[in-house]
Amino acid sequence: MSDGGGRPRPGFETLAIHAGQEPDGATGAVVPPIHLATTYAQDGVGVHRGFEYSRSGNPTRTTLETALAALELASFGFAFASGMAAEDAVLRFLRPGDHIVIPNDAYGGTYRLVARVHADYGIAFTPADLTDPTAVAEAFRAETRLVWVETPSNPMLRIADIAAIAELAHRQGARVVVDNTFATPYLQQPLDLGADVVVHSTTKYLGGHSDVVGGFVATGDGEVADRVGFLQNATGAVPSPFDCYLVLRGVKTLAVRLDRQCASAMAVARFLAEHPAVNHVSYPGIETHPGHDVAKRQMRDYGAMLSFTLRGGEPAALDVAASTGIFTLAESLGAVESLIEHPARMTHLSVAGSALEVDPSLLRLSIGLETVEDLIADLSIALERAPAR
Ligand code: PLP
Repeated sequence: MSDGGGRPRPGFETLAIHAGQEPDGATGAVVPPIHLATTYAQDGVGVHRGFEYSRSGNPTRTTLETALAALELASFGFAFASGMAAEDAVLRFLRPGDHIVIPNDAYGGTYRLVARVHADYGIAFTPADLTDPTAVAEAFRAETRLVWVETPSNPMLRIADIAAIAELAHRQGARVVVDNTFATPYLQQPLDLGADVVVHSTTKYLGGHSDVVGGFVATGDGEVADRVGFLQNATGAVPSPFDCYLVLRGVKTLAVRLDRQCASAMAVARFLAEHPAVNHVSYPGIETHPGHDVAKRQMRDYGAMLSFTLRGGEPAALDVAASTGIFTLAESLGAVESLIEHPARMTHLSVAGSALEVDPSLLRLSIGLETVEDLIADLSIALERAPAR
């Protein structure tokens, strides 16, 4: 995007549509072309026009990387084939003997990657309650190089204070990585709060339509960028040009989608909080949520994910999960259709038996863009059938 000759920095929605997305120089097309070529003609040996081979760099991917880096207020951005590939590239910054602090309710795949892949290569880890600064401080060791933050967390919707953790980590010489998948840069910009690296599953809100798997790393730290950029090419977990296009397309409507989804999530949370079959609702927008004040400070709105436990325990949870009509029983989140899932048996099965094990009476909702009254009616009918204890 041109600098506009002294205009103020564009707002989020403007950047989401225009950052890195000038009309195509050759044709004027307003939609970035999907560049399928795997290789690029060179004008002389080693003399090229910015692209040589599509794993190393692809114009559609560069457009996506420029756009998402702008939204995360980052100097560098790297797109990956999935959120896990993005996380893996960041974790490979660590060396054998290093230590990482992870949330005690991290996304199950993150826990699996740390505990069952990187631990085998000599990376030690400590799960900690990131909502408690004392617990975070106690988890630190002399070898701690990274603190991994997820806020709001998956599936408990706990809120960690990014600025406070960054201050603590930096004092100890460690970097802070924030998985910003649940919040998106529209609701929360971790680099601005002091974090060093942001990772995303672009499969979720950034893509927004349940039709693309992708990941992203954003950072302002040149050392991290050098390593992640090297790994992107060296290990090759890159997204296809078409996948990059789908995420670019999704991002353009992120702000309006999330405005509506957050409003609906708040209405659903309030409905569930009053329901006799429901034991406890976790949604940071509710004033009694322990992280409400921090969320209010560091987020624009409270997101569209929520979870709740049922008085009838796991049988009731399984029953409700299988009884909704509009909420689809499925993994994933962040798209236009509302989803319901049972974390203990679905997304978080990989943490069963660990310190991160999830309450089996818990259900997680991803609130989509359907009419909110329909969503509430759907839950109301499903909850009526749930066995009470
Ligand atoms: N981070 C969070 C918070 C997630 O919920 C997920 C997937 O559910 C991931 C990372 C992994 O992303 P992907 O499925 O795109 O590999």
